[in-house]
Amino acid sequence: MREPESSRLNNLLSANNKLFLDIREYSMVEAQDKEYASTMMTLKDKMNGILTASLDLLFPPSCPSCKTVTGNTDKPLCGECFSQLKFIKTPYCSCCGRILSGGEENHLCGDCIKSSWAFDKARSIFSYEDVIAGLIHNLKYFGETTGIETIGWVSRQTAIIDDFDNSDFIIPVPLHIKRLRQRGFNQAQVLAKSIFPDARKKIRTDLLARQTDTQSQTGLSGKERRTNLNNAFFVKKPSALSKKNLLLFDDVFTTGSTVHECARALKTAGANRVEVLTICRADKIFS
Ligand SMILES: [Zn+2]
Ligand SMILES: [Zn+2]
Repeated sequence: MREPESSRLNNLLSANNKLFLDIREYSMVEAQDKEYASTMMTLKDKMNGILTASLDLLFPPSCPSCKTVTGNTDKPLCGECFSQLKFIKTPYCSCCGRILSGGEENHLCGDCIKSSWAFDKARSIFSYEDVIAGLIHNLKYFGETTGIETIGWVSRQTAIIDDFDNSDFIIPVPLHIKRLRQRGFNQAQVLAKSIFPDARKKIRTDLLARQTDTQSQTGLSGKERRTNLNNAFFVKKPSALSKKNLLLFDDVFTTGSTVHECARALKTAGANRVEVLTICRADKIFS
């Protein structure tokens, strides 16, 4: 350990030891009054501060993507990784949110002209590439939960999420119970909490369920995915959804089959409007 860090750590540890002695001294005092309780709380807060500072010194904050030590807890992604994020910008499909390569204005993509979705509109924040794809992949398949707050923070740097302020409920796309037990968490649920910290009460996981454990959809066409997912979702409390405006939330939009099937179940149960937000869009750019 370098000299300045070593002396900072020594200072922190000796301050901590002094607090332990103070607490011991106060513990011997019999007085059970308010002043005593308040002093104990102050000492406890000070100890927490010292322990947090000690941990930061021993394990300095690092970028969860490239692992570079940043020492910065305010911006949880390093500057280099942040600059690689591909925020989705105009032009994109005004219905499904697909990234378009031609023109300057948003307009309907070919798929949305030909066919209709069960949801009213869909938007994504990032193109599914490099840094964000790595964070989501590591969360889902390696349980690297340290990326959750980072994904929430980078997602909140765009105005797209402000478009969804008016929804009555936020519904994370559910996992089948078997998959949930294997993974230990639903990534859509934990990421929704991270992206909407002020709207956590709106997040509902008790309304929509997945009754079919579909195997990986990788390699299937959009039509095959829809067939595979037919009736995979069901609404548990239709009365709670009646005439409600819903935000359906997921990590990645690939062909849109999953959110289409969820929206179909929600609309059939009586929802007024179903809008979709995903962190990433994984399909090809459409010209
Ligand atoms: Zn980085
Ligand atoms: Zn479209």
